[in-house]
Amino acid sequence: MNIKILVVEDESNIQTIIRTYLESAGFAVRVVGSGPDALREAAQWQPDLIVLDLNLPGMDGLEVTTRLRQESEVYILILTARGEETDRVAGLRLGADDYLTKPFSPRELVARVEAILRRQRRGPAAPSATLTFAHLTINPDSHEAQANGHLLELTATEFQVLWELARNAGRVLTRDQLVNLVWGSNFYGNDRVVDVYVGQVRRKLQDATQQTLIETVRGVGYKFVDVKK
Ligand code: CA
Repeated sequence: MNIKILVVEDESNIQTIIRTYLESAGFAVRVVGSGPDALREAAQWQPDLIVLDLNLPGMDGLEVTTRLRQESEVYILILTARGEETDRVAGLRLGADDYLTKPFSPRELVARVEAILRRQRRGPAAPSATLTFAHLTINPDSHEAQANGHLLELTATEFQVLWELARNAGRVLTRDQLVNLVWGSNFYGNDRVVDVYVGQVRRKLQDATQQTLIETVRGVGYKFVDVKK
């Protein structure tokens, strides 16, 4: 069965370009032009990934992202206009998996989509061991992390960031290392994206444990500091 991609974009010429490229890459594509239509189609069609323009009439893409995240873990790639860094960061904070800035090359869009989907399929070949720390348990097979007994609400990308940091507990990972481990060589974003994700994961851990389990090592990167049980 084809991988399903829902495109949410209100400009018809961009709709056409995106649809053409995604379809020729082998994806099943549906296109809608508004936030409410996106939510309805996401619920009914159950796409694997949503390409979401942030600048939509009626309900903007950030609101759509928030509502989608209340219901599902679907991959979300947001499209933003040049210069809208605030929106981009907000989108990632709300749980989008990646972003692309307009105007973009349709080939790059396809490459990004494929990179996001590849993360999902990268799953462990052999059953991997659950990591157990004083405050945190991480199960790579179920993609679940529990902090002091409470299930953490993490997006797929946030989980991957946490997994890589925790797997390397006590060691500093540079931003570049994290990018390679989480996004692979198909990463087109900048360091800012890594910082946003690490910040998100750290905040969620902090809320659940009242501990700072991820430390920033200034000028170098990040370190997970919980102790193994
Ligand atoms: Ca638009």
